[in-house]
Amino acid sequence: MDKITYYSTNGQSPEVSFRGALLKGQAPDYGLYMPSQIPALDKNLMAGFAEQDYPDVAYAVLHAFLQDEVPAERLRELVDDAYDYPVPLEHVTDRKYVMRLDQGPTASFKDFAARMMGRLMNHFLEKENRELYILTATSGDTGSAIANAFYGLDNIRVLILFPEREVTPRQRKQMTTLGKNVEVVAIDGKFDDCQAMVKKAFGDPDLQDHNLSSANSINIGRLLPQAVYYFYAWSQLAAKQDEKATFVVPSGNFGDMMGGMIAWHMGLPVEKMVIAVNENDEFPVFLETGRYEKIVPSKNCLSSAMNVGHPSNLARLVDLYGGRMDEKGAISKQPDMASMRKHMTSLSVSDEETRATIAEAWKQYQLLLEPHGAVGWAGLQKYLETIPEDPTDKLFVVLETAHPAKFPEQIREILQFDPELPPALQGLEEQEEHYLHMAHDYALFKKHLMGSKK
Ligand SMILES: *Cc1c(COP(=O)(O)O)cnc(C)c1O
Repeated sequence: MDKITYYSTNGQSPEVSFRGALLKGQAPDYGLYMPSQIPALDKNLMAGFAEQDYPDVAYAVLHAFLQDEVPAERLRELVDDAYDYPVPLEHVTDRKYVMRLDQGPTASFKDFAARMMGRLMNHFLEKENRELYILTATSGDTGSAIANAFYGLDNIRVLILFPEREVTPRQRKQMTTLGKNVEVVAIDGKFDDCQAMVKKAFGDPDLQDHNLSSANSINIGRLLPQAVYYFYAWSQLAAKQDEKATFVVPSGNFGDMMGGMIAWHMGLPVEKMVIAVNENDEFPVFLETGRYEKIVPSKNCLSSAMNVGHPSNLARLVDLYGGRMDEKGAISKQPDMASMRKHMTSLSVSDEETRATIAEAWKQYQLLLEPHGAVGWAGLQKYLETIPEDPTDKLFVVLETAHPAKFPEQIREILQFDPELPPALQGLEEQEEHYLHMAHDYALFKKHLMGSKK
């Protein structure tokens, strides 16, 4: 196999190594990095996963991409260190399961990606004695996962922007109580505004010598680790080696589902990817009509981490299907819509349906869901109504992307009780918060960045 390189979805930047793509984040032409080839996993290797633990599977999947750039023993240490928490697969009914990706230090699925990316970056920086300034915009969970993943690392500083009114107090506290190398700024605006400010900073010639890097879901270092849990779920649940699974992914910026698409291309037996979104339904509309229109501004829904009117990773999906979409969402080459429709379905779930699903899942199955996972579970129910065959014997895995205790207000309102806090979320109340407030104004933000250069 030739060495894997990484090209930009906008096609105007030189190809780089994994290291280059990881440390840059976004390509200079504002595109997203994609691997020049997706390595196929050996069938026997995959069969062995059934007997293995999560870090073993993570090692095998990531090694396939990183073998030329990260020594095997080093990668082994990094995955063991990153994945030291359980990944429960909760049986619900028939062969329907909920994969709880909420047992990491910030109780969000974003821990899977952020912890690995942090460790990989640190691995390269340490070797080179360099420093990086990570800028990231969050709609809630990314920020705490990034802050946690990089907290205390010598060669990395982190600045997190969040939309003041769109994150819960607990989400905020998970970012603002850390301190040290983690700086947090509340923006008087929406998530898309925060993301736009970060993107602008990356393209700003005046900031080129500030060693800026991104840790948003656009970083390839976050994307690859998100392929791992699809393999893991399948290996634990598939009845036989060629059994295909259908995954339901509650989606916002589409990093999670791109992880699943990469896993599929590596040879994972997948029947269908069901992409469940909230009322920000630009993708289901695109899939149906072939016409893409972002939603500006994005709609505020209960599943706040999915309030995205233009998913950045859509450019990667379009690329995977032979098309081209730029960072603004303009399509210059239409992807193969027929194949896309064959491989995936996308459904929009309203807030009302989300609430009803949280209530029903609890009542019917004692299945405790928070709003994002509820969009996923509702997406599965809607999907089942559209398929002709009897789904009883088929394998379905719905991803639950956050712990219900991260959304106590909604759970209390709908189910009249308080979800128990996982250990990772205990003790936050007593800690002191540190963060700045800033208007939605790029000039101010830039001044801040220039001023805080070391
Ligand atoms: C970020 C997030 C999502 C959406 O994931 P994408 O990769 O952006 O599609 C879903 N649920 C939760 C809880 C999240 O934090």
